[in-house]
Amino acid sequence: MDRRNLDVTARLRPALRGFEPYDPRFSPVRVNLSANENTHPLPAELAEAARAAVAATPLNRYPDPMANALRDALAVRHGTDRAHVIVGNGGDELLFNLLFAFGGPGRALVTCPPDFAEYANFAAMCETPVVAVPRDAEDFSVDADALLAAAADAALVVLTSPNNPTGDLLDPGLVRRLLAETEALVLVDEAYVEFAGEGKSLAGLVAENPRLIVLRTLSKAFALAGLRVGYLVADPAVVDALGAVRQIYSVDVLAQAVALAFVERRDLIAPVVDDIVSERERLAAGLAGLPGVRTWPSAANFVLARVPNAHRTWERLRDEHSVLVRDFSATPGLENCLRLTVGTREENDVLLDALATLLREEA
Ligand SMILES: *Cc1c(COP(=O)(O)O)cnc(C)c1O
Repeated sequence: MDRRNLDVTARLRPALRGFEPYDPRFSPVRVNLSANENTHPLPAELAEAARAAVAATPLNRYPDPMANALRDALAVRHGTDRAHVIVGNGGDELLFNLLFAFGGPGRALVTCPPDFAEYANFAAMCETPVVAVPRDAEDFSVDADALLAAAADAALVVLTSPNNPTGDLLDPGLVRRLLAETEALVLVDEAYVEFAGEGKSLAGLVAENPRLIVLRTLSKAFALAGLRVGYLVADPAVVDALGAVRQIYSVDVLAQAVALAFVERRDLIAPVVDDIVSERERLAAGLAGLPGVRTWPSAANFVLARVPNAHRTWERLRDEHSVLVRDFSATPGLENCLRLTVGTREENDVLLDALATLLREEA
């Protein structure tokens, strides 16, 4: 068999040409503040609950495809019932499935960049046209009139609250207007909403608004990025449509068991979230004291900072200080911007000291 001249590109579905494997080539570093993970040590009781859940879970049986025990616990968290909840292999799977189910040729997705890059990626894979309504260059606010105009002909609008990577919260009035004045499905991505404080989630509005879909994840506040569990709070008809087209066993038995243990013990994670929020303010204040650095207010577990020579600063942070952050300087609208995940007090001090040293040297 001649394997030398296989023209994969010609054989690929045209919409899928040009994509590359996602490999961020994580290099081992002393302080990794690049992916908005929760880097705090787990409370002992939660760590023990996770170990017990793993130990009690047989691996020879298939998972419950709909993860009903976990759905019930999540429904309790949101004061609803399991019919309004669907679980996925991370929020990412649910984002993909939303576009797979409700997108496609002629059914546009409206985005407000700079935002989460996966929206446009998954849309492209699902042959869904993207209509971008760029945020204000200064404060990253969304132009309500432009958004409403774009949403008038769209299948789906995605808004992120707090937004990644800019950190700002969405105006709930804008969501109400989108629901009242357009026919689009409105997805509010709340991956970071636990860091925004009480009462910022729009999940409670789903019951009266069947076109509202709220995305949540256990990857950020719950410190379970490696487990891959996210969920939607949505109308039962949306949940059923997505349930019908998903990979049936995408949420494995260990993920279901550990996620259930964490969701049932969610009060234990609250002090960790509080600490991250106070560290966020300390990190932001420290950054504001550095020469030439600009930051924006953040309601999430990261801070966006504009620094002189951002790409070079990013590289030197990694290579000379073993501190990894996320470089957004090549993203339109984010020139010279780095996204700094809020770490532990010690990690944030290492980052601030390293940045102070570099900026002094670069000045
Ligand atoms: C992290 C993140 C998600 C979901 O992450 P998963 O690990 O796949 O659950 C979704 N949206 C945004 C904006 C994120 O930053």
